[in-house]
Amino acid sequence: MYKLFIGVSLICVTCLSGCYTVPETGRSSLNLMSEGTVSSMAAASFGELKTDTPISTDKQKTAMVERVGRRIVTVAAESADLPPVDKWEFVLFEDDKTINAFAMSGGKVGVYTGLLTVAKTEDQLAAVIGHEVAHVAARHGNERLSQNLVLAGIGAGLVVGTMKESAATQAAVLGAYGAGATVGVVLPFSRRDEAEADYIGLIYMARAGYDPRAAVEFWESMRAQKGETVPELLSTHPADDTRIENIKRQLPQVMPIYETMHNA
Ligand SMILES: [Zn+2]
Repeated sequence: MYKLFIGVSLICVTCLSGCYTVPETGRSSLNLMSEGTVSSMAAASFGELKTDTPISTDKQKTAMVERVGRRIVTVAAESADLPPVDKWEFVLFEDDKTINAFAMSGGKVGVYTGLLTVAKTEDQLAAVIGHEVAHVAARHGNERLSQNLVLAGIGAGLVVGTMKESAATQAAVLGAYGAGATVGVVLPFSRRDEAEADYIGLIYMARAGYDPRAAVEFWESMRAQKGETVPELLSTHPADDTRIENIKRQLPQVMPIYETMHNA
């Protein structure tokens, strides 16, 4: 009960300064951590990944990831508080067995060559990157960490008190509470976050001139994936009928945007 009270008062106190309005949906989300902190934690994870995983030398595929990424980020930055387009980094990791892609706060996007065996067209790749960039634009990572802090019953004093500390200190403090340990790589998001990122991602695709119908094609290919190992992307992104039906239902809303862009 005491913890619940702290949690509730934490939301009330911090919503004055700790709430973020999600672009495109207008939903208010609890963001207790500064984006600077989340971004530096993400940058550290991304740096480690680049050291541990070979980077593709395929110039054509690398250029495609870069091109699609830049087009998506350009439209996303028009309506969300994101780093400027030239600050984003897009890396194609050489790993044909990993069917995965991610985007992180601070402007990092990673795609594995394995993903390109499922996302076979540029529009399908745009569906994945659009979805991942939407998670960043909606600050789902920050929200998830903030929820963990509230659930752990951590008082406002801790967060506010460490706000001025270096990012490393703050990461250590949060890490001690079990939050933040996996930030930046892949956080398992809730169903609501997934649906929100699907919706925002479709809007980004359409505005960037990619055919939103490719999102349906991509998730149908993911659903059809069979083999010894479950694709990593599927473990955090179930390609079930509900997801695909929801995307189909939203197409009439975004197709006019795409057609305008496409015929422009
Ligand atoms: Zn997702």
